[in-house]
This record gives sequence, C-alpha cells and structure tokens, in this order.
Amino acid sequence: MLSDRLANALNKQMNKEFFAAHSYMAMAAYCEHDSYSGFAHFYVEQAEEERFHGMKIYNYLNDRGVQAKFSSIEEPKINFASVLDTFENALEQEKNVTKSIYDLTDLAWDEKEHATISFLKWFLDEQVEEESSFETHIDYLKRIGNDKNSLYMYEKELEKRTFTPDGD
Ligand code: MG
Repeated sequence: MLSDRLANALNKQMNKEFFAAHSYMAMAAYCEHDSYSGFAHFYVEQAEEERFHGMKIYNYLNDRGVQAKFSSIEEPKINFASVLDTFENALEQEKNVTKSIYDLTDLAWDEKEHATISFLKWFLDEQVEEESSFETHIDYLKRIGNDKNSLYMYEKELEKRTFTPDGD
C-alpha cells in the first residue's frame, strides 16, 4: 500500500508528464505555423512520448490500488522566437522534470518504498536521454545558425523520427 504522500506525488508527476505533452504540442503548432513541418512532426512525436510517460505512471498507480487523479492542465508557452528557442525551452522543461523525478525518488527512498524506487529507475534513465537529446539538437541548431540549406537538411532528419514505446 502506498502512503498518501507518495501516491499524491506520483499523481502530480503523472499530470506533469501530460502537461509536457501539451507543451510539446504547443511547440509543434508554433513550428507548423511557420511551415517547419519536420520540426512540428518531431514535437508531435515527442508529445506522444510524454503521454506514454504519463500512462506509465497511470498504470503503476492502478497496479498499486490508487485511483489516478487528473488535474487541470495549465496553459503552456505558445510564443517562441525561433525553432532554436523551442528546443531551449524544451531542454528547460526536461531539466525541470528531471528535478521532480529526483524529488519523487528521494521521497520513495525516505519511505523505503522499494517497488516505487525500482519503478522510478526507468524514468531516471529516460531523463538522461531526454536531456542529452535536446542538448545535441541545440548544439546542431546553433552550429547551423542562419544557413537555410543546413537547417532544411536537419529538419528532414528530424522528420523521420517516430516514437515507439520500446525504442527511441
Ligand atoms: Mg517525460
């Protein structure tokens, strides 16, 4: 049986993951509006991945006999200065999620809730990948700068991205 404190913290994290999906959809919409369809596609896939994260916690709560609580989702940032700016915002968002997974893990340790500690390990590993991936995209986009041809080619690369729960 999970304590109320831990159940509430997991619930909060679940909502955070769904908020992340919402936020990535706003980035997709920004890119699509400027006809950067490849980047828009990348963010739609990223949103799909965040929903998968949210569902992972939803299923865990169910498995542990806790009813998941959905809260209202705040309005995400919708205005950006550039495609690069969306990636910089995305990295900040992921760093924020990493911090909250760390806090959640601290709480699970505090309660010696070993099954939850084990469950959260997947998320800790995932966050390392998420941050690294956005850092790489930012480095490339900065290197590309105003070179439209390179930007176009990079966009075509990202357009190929498809989210699959096991890979990626
Ligand atoms: Mg996530």
